[in-house]
Amino acid sequence: CKITRPPPTPSPLRFSKFFQANLRILVTGGAGFIGSHLVDKLMENEKNEVIVADNYFTGSKDNLKKWIGHPRFELIRHDVTEPLLVEVDQIYHLACPASPIFYKYNPVKTIKTNVMGTMNMLGLAKRVGARILLTSTSEVYGDPLEHPQTEEYWGNVNPIGVRSCYDEGKRVAETLMFDYHRQHGIEIRIARIFNTYGPRMNIDDGRVVSNFIAQALRDEPLTVQKPGTQTRSFCYVADMVDGLIKLMEGPSTGPINLGNPGEFTMLELAENVKELINPEVELKMVENTPDDPRQRKPNITKAKEILNWEPKITLREGLPLMEEDFRQRLGIPISAMKD
Ligand code: NAD
Ligand code: UDP
Ligand code: UDP
Repeated sequence: CKITRPPPTPSPLRFSKFFQANLRILVTGGAGFIGSHLVDKLMENEKNEVIVADNYFTGSKDNLKKWIGHPRFELIRHDVTEPLLVEVDQIYHLACPASPIFYKYNPVKTIKTNVMGTMNMLGLAKRVGARILLTSTSEVYGDPLEHPQTEEYWGNVNPIGVRSCYDEGKRVAETLMFDYHRQHGIEIRIARIFNTYGPRMNIDDGRVVSNFIAQALRDEPLTVQKPGTQTRSFCYVADMVDGLIKLMEGPSTGPINLGNPGEFTMLELAENVKELINPEVELKMVENTPDDPRQRKPNITKAKEILNWEPKITLREGLPLMEEDFRQRLGIPISAMKD
């Protein structure tokens, strides 16, 4: 049967004589790492007006400082577990802590953010007729028994483990997206993001790339968690943002894997950081955390075929691009390390 829905509430911008904006875009979690880079890219297009809703749990106004006060930009302190009333055409729904340290800090809040937050954004999309994109995660594959992971793989996830608030939370969020799509005809897009790195990552969020770079700059040993042979595939943030926009604008609901298929063990990553950033630094093997996936690598055939997208920046090109931002924030000039 054909699904009918009420006509979208027109954006007041369309009637404003001051703005020529064609699209009003909501970015939840836009003060965070990926979100703020996405906002930068969306704001480059003069036809876009961007609204960010963020509770600043892991994000910061600093990431958006160049846009605060701009006539096409608006920043709202808002927690997505509460209803939100705005009139928009597109919703990029990113709000959720992404680093294990932060999502495990208050796991009940993490699952509320994933479930209630996504339901609220879907309710909003339904009311105004907006298209909504969810940033899901490779964590939905859990500790994968299929390698590399394709979108058809259903995953191997512990439902009661310490990571479950995040990975099961995202799995429910995906379910909600498809149920609203099937039941209410909402236009949905789901990205399954694999490990992403770049400038503006939280310095102390415990993620491996930010840890290693900060440690290398501080002359501290790189903490390789055992066994060190576990793998990840790291995508530079500018590539990720291009993929998210192509997915939003493209024809497919997804889920679509977005990530860089270049796969590295944590020991290899440490060796690369050592070579590129501080050849004097030592490596130290330390204990790992429970349920750490042993391997992760995206199959990005769908993204290539449907979105004509693939990452351009290799890990060895991307790490130095992140170094300068970390130096500035840590207050370590290049000369300090050369001495
Ligand atoms: P981040 O922690 O830097 O950004 C998340 C943002 O969401 C922050 O600004 C935070 O303050 C905000 N937020 C958290 N809970 C909120 C709430 N209840 N209400 C409103 N705002 C809230 O993380 P990121 O790396 O930029 O990740 C962005 C999205 O991408 C997340 O949905 C994450 O699950 C997904 N993702 C990221 C990666 C990665 O490698 N970075 C990998 C897979 C998926
Ligand atoms: N919602 C929102 N903004 C809106 C419309 C809805 O935050 O503009 C929230 C609403 O409060 C509800 C959720 O989205 O908790 C789901 O909305 P839906 O209409 O699907 O469900 P219902 O309101 O019927 O429970
Ligand atoms: N890791 C590490 N040293 C660190 C932090 C993490 O070796 O200082 C390892 C961790 O055991 C995992 C990988 O790096 O195997 C990626 O961890 P991260 O928390 O960055 O991301 P995720 O586990 O969510 O992929």
